[in-house]
Amino acid sequence: MASNDKMHDPSSSTQTRRQYEDDVYFMSVALMFAKKSPDPSTKVGACIVNEGGKIVGVGFNKMPDGCEGKFPWKHDTEDEDPLNTKGMYVCHAELNAIVNKTSVDVKGCTIYVTLFPCNECAKLIVQSGIKNVVYLSNKHKERNGTKAAFRILDEASTPKNIIYRQFESKQDVRDLLDSIDPFAE
Ligand SMILES: [Zn+2]
Repeated sequence: MASNDKMHDPSSSTQTRRQYEDDVYFMSVALMFAKKSPDPSTKVGACIVNEGGKIVGVGFNKMPDGCEGKFPWKHDTEDEDPLNTKGMYVCHAELNAIVNKTSVDVKGCTIYVTLFPCNECAKLIVQSGIKNVVYLSNKHKERNGTKAAFRILDEASTPKNIIYRQFESKQDVRDLLDSIDPFAE
């Protein structure tokens, strides 16, 4: 396991430490799936974990099945025809993780996402019964979609309020991945 002050802080409770180690592990999985995204600018990954600590869904942002290479990856800009921008077509990581689930449903689950959800994904998260959202980046926080997503997550209950929090230790994810050596004796 990576050496990290927070991970090995003897004053932190066992439960907090275990939670932290889970966060590093599942965020690493979300990041590895982000790597698979064909989006040239914003690669996003998601990993859904059930209450038993098992992964029940993963996803990354991509075009709908069969549409890869047929739609543009251009950003929305004022002078671009919206029909020529990715926003019309792309399936976000959260959507793919939810629809790819290996369980009957994702009620009570935690979703790890490498980027804070947009409003459309916030709706999906709420309606699918996910109760916790852990995100890495919030680089789109000025966008209306992100602001609406915060409002949705603040007001929704599934049936309890949704808890969202930022995971900020990207370095620990790097350390975890670096520490894996399948050839070590
Ligand atoms: Zn989204």
